Amino acid sequence: MNLRNCARCGKMFNYIGGQPICDPCKKAIEEDFQKVKQYIVDNPTASLKQITEDNQVSAKQIQQWIREERLMFSKDSPIQLLCENCGEPITTGRFCAKCKTSMANNLNNTFAKPKPALQQPVKKEPKAGMRFLDT
Ligand SMILES: [Zn+2]
Ligand SMILES: [Zn+2]
Repeated sequence: MNLRNCARCGKMFNYIGGQPICDPCKKAIEEDFQKVKQYIVDNPTASLKQITEDNQVSAKQIQQWIREERLMFSKDSPIQLLCENCGEPITTGRFCAKCKTSMANNLNNTFAKPKPALQQPVKKEPKAGMRFLDT
């Protein structure tokens, strides 16, 4: 048993992993999420303050959902998100598509196509198995 205090309601619960939040609270948060998601669809121009007040959800919670890319805002929304890397306006998450792609490429360098601008020494040519007609 790994007892912890729930980060939301403060009750002791059997902690399994992930966020330190008890099951009833997790359920309640999920319900809040569905509510907020629908609310944003119905009220695309609602401000963050309006959303928190009308749904009784904290701004912190909404920001978390945005970071998790669970909430999306339309272009008309007063909620303006900016890419944490380049400052481009985005609709969800933390980074714009461009930065996400380049970050993914950096992570999986082996799969990225070599760009002519920055030549990286990729020296792993599959020699074995290649045969020319030299007989
Ligand atoms: Zn709880
Ligand atoms: Zn960016």
